[in-house]
Amino acid sequence: MLIKGPEDEILKKEQAFKIIRSTLDEKGREALYDLTGLAGGFPIKKEDKKLLETYIGPAVYEEKLQKLALEHLGGEKAIAFNRTTSGILATIIALTKPGDKIVHYLPESPSHPSIPESAKIRGAEYLEFDNIKEFHTPPRTSLIFITGATMDHKITEIEEFKKIISLSKKKKIPVMVDDASGARIRTIIYKQPKAIELGADLAITSTDKLMNGPRGGILTGKTRLVNKIKTIAYKFGLEAQPPLIAAMVRALEEFEPSKILKAIKIRDEVHKKLKKAFKGFQKTPTGVMIRPEEIKKEIRRHNLKTRLSPKDTSYLWAMLLLQEYGIITIPAAGMPGASPTLRLDFSAPDAQRLKPDQITKILEETFQKLLDTIKEPTKAKTILGG
Ligand SMILES: *Cc1c(COP(=O)(O)O)cnc(C)c1O
Repeated sequence: MLIKGPEDEILKKEQAFKIIRSTLDEKGREALYDLTGLAGGFPIKKEDKKLLETYIGPAVYEEKLQKLALEHLGGEKAIAFNRTTSGILATIIALTKPGDKIVHYLPESPSHPSIPESAKIRGAEYLEFDNIKEFHTPPRTSLIFITGATMDHKITEIEEFKKIISLSKKKKIPVMVDDASGARIRTIIYKQPKAIELGADLAITSTDKLMNGPRGGILTGKTRLVNKIKTIAYKFGLEAQPPLIAAMVRALEEFEPSKILKAIKIRDEVHKKLKKAFKGFQKTPTGVMIRPEEIKKEIRRHNLKTRLSPKDTSYLWAMLLLQEYGIITIPAAGMPGASPTLRLDFSAPDAQRLKPDQITKILEETFQKLLDTIKEPTKAKTILGG
């Protein structure tokens, strides 16, 4: 195994950043293609810049954000966070006590690390279910999470939402939906209702996912709960600052669902072409992906044996995509604990500059490189860690 834990993941991420910097220096921004599906857009306007001060900024943009956030997510009151992760941490600190239980349902484990890690900090016991038949809330459960769409974009079905939410209402336990990408994937692609409309008390989304916004989280829901969470947010400095809020406001103003629907067409074409060379690529709502175990199977199909872990093969392929073609994906540049699945997202603006044929060819060529690389473990190590 080459990547053994979070420290190695940080080294890999730093190596990815080094490649991104040198590509920028040598070839310019055009030579990079961010297909992570995380936009990192900061679409503020000239007139916004004058207003980004500590008190004037929030006075102007928090009100605008309220309106737009409630339109986007539903709910009575909204608060903006530095990240979805900080919103989840604030919620857990505000609504649970040490020794309580936090129960989480998601269509497929593992969870985004923010929920189990925040539970750990709080001293709360964390229970995770990805089988609805097993889902239950033991005594002293004080908060329920549902992940609307997982990191790999698998969604929770309406029936599952209904079952959990009706149970929570009976037991009077608040439900928070982690709808980081789900707030758009579920509603726009799968035509599901908003989490709040399904009866959730709280919902949180990332303005960085499937919309051209900054990395940040917006939480909405019942005023009583949002106020409690807000107090914690201020205490620990988790709330978004004026420049971030202004960018979130602009991103919500210009949000256009049809862009997400366009990605579906590119996805279908790429997926069809990929089927000729690979067996393991699957469709995601707005792109294609291959899981680490499937990459290992592809390697075996070429009669090659490797002692690298499935995750390592995914990290390596992702780094080769970056090194050779400037394609940025999560396994290369993501945070520690992010999904190791190699996923290409075509709702990203950079995807518009690549043709389906090109994408397929790039994947085939880099896979051949991967086959060469795994024969030389020292070379593989350099690619991952510099
Ligand atoms: C991305 C994501 C998060 C965390 O979002 P950040 O803004 O990066 O903190 C949490 N949960 C899920 C399901 C996600 O996909």
